[in-house]
Amino acid sequence: MCGSDNPPVSVHVGRGLDDVLEHLSSVPNVTVLAGGTDLMVELNFGRRRPEHIVAIDRVGELAGIERNGHVRMGAGLTYTRMLADAGSQALAEAARTIGSPQIRNAGTIGGNLGTASPAGDTLPVLAALDATVVLRSKAGERRVPFADYMTGPKKSLRRADELIVAAEWDEAGPAQTYMFVSTRNAMAISIAGLAMVVDRARKRVGIGLGSCGPTIIRPADAEGFARGLFDEAGWERPHRPSESAAKELGRLVAAAARPIDDVRGTAAYRRHALAVMGARAISRVAQIA
Ligand SMILES: Cc1cc2nc3c(=O)[nH]c(=O)nc-3n(C[C@H](O)[C@H](O)[C@H](O)COP(=O)(O)OP(=O)(O)OC[C@H]3O[C@@H](n4cnc5c(N)ncnc54)[C@H](O)[C@@H]3O)c2cc1C
Repeated sequence: MCGSDNPPVSVHVGRGLDDVLEHLSSVPNVTVLAGGTDLMVELNFGRRRPEHIVAIDRVGELAGIERNGHVRMGAGLTYTRMLADAGSQALAEAARTIGSPQIRNAGTIGGNLGTASPAGDTLPVLAALDATVVLRSKAGERRVPFADYMTGPKKSLRRADELIVAAEWDEAGPAQTYMFVSTRNAMAISIAGLAMVVDRARKRVGIGLGSCGPTIIRPADAEGFARGLFDEAGWERPHRPSESAAKELGRLVAAAARPIDDVRGTAAYRRHALAVMGARAISRVAQIA
């Protein structure tokens, strides 16, 4: 810190899960560092100045993925690892588009959840999957439905002594997709994103909308309309929705959004993009069985 007026920062390299939880409970105001692809940007711009950091990138317990009909993805799993196995087609599609190879090598799903930005690309997918966020502290573990986890832009109900240890969901089959619009295909924050998951076995449709409200939005009317399409066509069979049905689904998706005008796009453009993506997503996913 030579030549700097900034106070020193202590960095503890976590040796294991228990060690990290002990640190979070015994040291006040500790900031978790995973891949650092969000946190280091905040530090470099002087927007955050933590006194204490605990690094979790060497904690093996957080880095795995387990599948047995149910998926448990450790918070430390990087996007590059997800390209090999994401436990969800839509999540694999989201992971493929995140940042650059360097960002994907370091960035983790736990970091996307920790930042809790409405523009986080994995978050609409977790919403559509009806995922559970697993939080652990020295006092114990709590399992929070993703729908309750985000409380506002970059806000969640995670307590300071809690570590995000995993995200979990039921395997939903191949009929799922993630799409987004941005100014270019990579290295750009999404202007609007949409994940759609059709779990044919459970007769369930989940849709998650990103970058078009303070949190990730679930468009309930659009989900209900889509369920009706599958009730009619048969859940087990691939089908091609009519153009008017796809358009109606897009309309319902756009109607549920609460977008704002900002530097990335106008509210009107976001609604338009969501309507187009909603129609495309149902047309794509309905044909996958
Ligand atoms: C050039 C660039 C491009 C990017 N492109 C995209 C993109 O296309 N899509 C996208 O969604 N994001 C993108 N990002 C943002 C970032 O890469 C992701 O949000 C990533 O998932 C953050 O993960 P991380 O492991 O690096 O988190 P970190 O930066 O280490 O941490 C982020 C936040 O989460 C907290 N945190 C991390 N892990 C945990 C945990 N296990 N428990 C509790 N809190 C935790 C940290 O304290 C911090 O507040 C980009 C960033 C950069 C710099």
